[in-house]
Amino acid sequence: ADLKDADLRVLEELGQGNGGSVVKVEHSPTGTVMAKKIVLIDAKPSIRKQILRELQIMHSCRSPYIVSSYGAFLSEPNICICMEFMDKGSFDGIYKRIGRVSLSVVRQVAYCVLQGLRYLYDVHRIIHRDIKPSNILCNSLGEIKLCDFGVSGELINSIAHTFVGTSVYMSPERIQGAEYSVKSDVWSLGISLIEIALGRFPFSSDDTGDDDDDENDSDLDNSSDNDSDLDDLERRKRVGAEDLARTATPRDSLLSLTNNKTKRRKQRQRGSVGGAMSIIELMHQIVKEPAPRLVLPGEEEAEEFVDACLVKDPEARKTPGQLLVSPIFFWGCKVWWEVCVD
Ligand code: ADP
Ligand code: MG
Repeated sequence: ADLKDADLRVLEELGQGNGGSVVKVEHSPTGTVMAKKIVLIDAKPSIRKQILRELQIMHSCRSPYIVSSYGAFLSEPNICICMEFMDKGSFDGIYKRIGRVSLSVVRQVAYCVLQGLRYLYDVHRIIHRDIKPSNILCNSLGEIKLCDFGVSGELINSIAHTFVGTSVYMSPERIQGAEYSVKSDVWSLGISLIEIALGRFPFSSDDTGDDDDDENDSDLDNSSDNDSDLDDLERRKRVGAEDLARTATPRDSLLSLTNNKTKRRKQRQRGSVGGAMSIIELMHQIVKEPAPRLVLPGEEEAEEFVDACLVKDPEARKTPGQLLVSPIFFWGCKVWWEVCVD
């Protein structure tokens, strides 16, 4: 059946990203509840048609680790993508709501994301390109699934100047302009796992050497409770990403921004740019410094797993398939061995 806006009743807003927004809707003819993603794109009609064709691939993705798609349609000037509604939302929302995510859940997340990545690549030759906590969704059945993968090259192109494949979850090789590979997604998974396990983004602004500027920032924002820290984190992630997207490559933006301190000050004083500069420094840090680690007492297997995701050299980094045989995933087998075999 063809989806159209007239049949979709908006129930609530689910969230907003750089590329658009997501609303919970009910498909009136069938009563199906869906998540509708609305993406504003700037493209010619022929390109729009091409995007819709490319989005068809989503329809043929069938995996317990991938959010299923009901279809996509044009609603000028937007493209709408209707997908399976995941009632527990994304893992960024989950850790902001409940705090640190326990290691047994982190392990599940790792497992499902790797399975999803392996499915997308092995079956459809798709690289996800945007692994981050907000693209890892959960429902009350306890299922964990990926959404927002890069099925449409034209869609990526059309939203490239407002939206980003460029983000703070990006691997060192991507920051340096290398081709995307499925191993770049493995890096992003490593960063995402540390973030949900610690309940905060693993690169702190202190690490970026932007301390005095941070004090200035907090003047703009006089509450200092946890929530506003999280908002600030979100703003940093987004603003920095937008800033990078405006320039051709991260390298370019690194140069142009570091050479333009006055402009940066002015932007800060207007309160509009927030942590943009520290994001550029963060990119520098990702490339130059040792990768972050997940160090938890008595959890060496998890530590080793995250270390394996965050190997800086993509040649030496493992693929999703190789990581799926890591000892952290043998837990289920151990239970079986110890409890079920006598
Ligand atoms: P981003 O992923 O950058 O946060 P999006 O526009 O992709 O931005 O999504 C906005 C929010 O909508 C996400 O953070 C997520 O919590 C929510 N969301 C997206 N897709 C779904 C879905 N299928 N079911 C439930 N919530 C969703
Ligand atoms: Mg998303």
